[in-house]
Amino acid sequence: MNNSTSAQIIDGNALAAHLRTDVKRRAAALAAKGVTPGLAVVLVGENPASQVYVRNKVKGCVDAGMHSVLERYADTMTEDELLARIDALNQDRTIHGILVQLPLPVHIDAAKVIEAISPAKDVDGFHIASAGALMVGQQGFWPCTPYGCMKMLESIGYNLRGKHAVVIGRSNIVGKPMALMLLQQNATVTICHSATADLKALTLQADVIVAAVGKRNVLTADMVKPGAVVIDVGMNRNDEGKLCGDVDFEGVRQVAGYITPVPGGVGPMTITMLLVNTLEAAEREFAA
Ligand code: NAP
Repeated sequence: MNNSTSAQIIDGNALAAHLRTDVKRRAAALAAKGVTPGLAVVLVGENPASQVYVRNKVKGCVDAGMHSVLERYADTMTEDELLARIDALNQDRTIHGILVQLPLPVHIDAAKVIEAISPAKDVDGFHIASAGALMVGQQGFWPCTPYGCMKMLESIGYNLRGKHAVVIGRSNIVGKPMALMLLQQNATVTICHSATADLKALTLQADVIVAAVGKRNVLTADMVKPGAVVIDVGMNRNDEGKLCGDVDFEGVRQVAGYITPVPGGVGPMTITMLLVNTLEAAEREFAA
């Protein structure tokens, strides 16, 4: 713990770079045995944010020495056509992970598409089989963002046993899996959401707070117990149009023991965990 009044920053860029070095090493070891881990990224439509995300995912793979294909389709693609592509990728031996970038156009049922992905290739961890595996503590794929948050806690040697963790947000891709992962590490977990009556009363009790809401200043300094670990998943824009999180960073860093910044915190960890999951999928298939 630092002895000043300012929290230690958990540097997501540095941790991501460290983990990616390990992914690269393991991918090379697998490639030497004849298997290059492969990720297929499927994008339907022209959503500008999605285009940036998929490019970064493909680049992350290639930089780690993995194979990656980006399949782009017009938003006129039908659900049946997309399901047929998923089926083909499920059969493709060079592809170990399949990621369908969300959101999909409204005429396509995203849940149906995600359920069509083979659970063995569900590197986003969104399939019901992956969600179920996380819930019962079996092997599956953990959703990348909360998985990255767990790696951040691990990186500071934080022992969650007996600690009180408060997760703000209960989405299927962040809040709920985050709560299950913390529970699996023996934290006592409280999940908060938009109907939570007194958020501050709960966060003030927390040793660990994960904010995954999508609104600026959901967590302010007066809501944080001195020394708490604060993980900020949120991605918002401030009045100047700059990227910011859910946490009032400047205020909360005066109280917290550790804090993740935005940008440079959870964001770089998310793609990194996608690479980890893709590598893991290939390693599992090789071992099978
Ligand atoms: P989401 O599906 O919109 O879920 C937001 C959650 O916040 C909901 O559970 C909602 O409650 C809750 N909430 C809303 N207002 C609240 C309030 N005033 N107090 C307490 N809880 C409140 O969002 P998401 O997909 O989980 O994403 C959350 C944020 O993380 C977004 O900013 C997103 O951009 C960001 N994100 C970042 C990454 C990354 O890589 N850094 C990855 C994924 C997401 P209800 O359930 O009651 O509506």
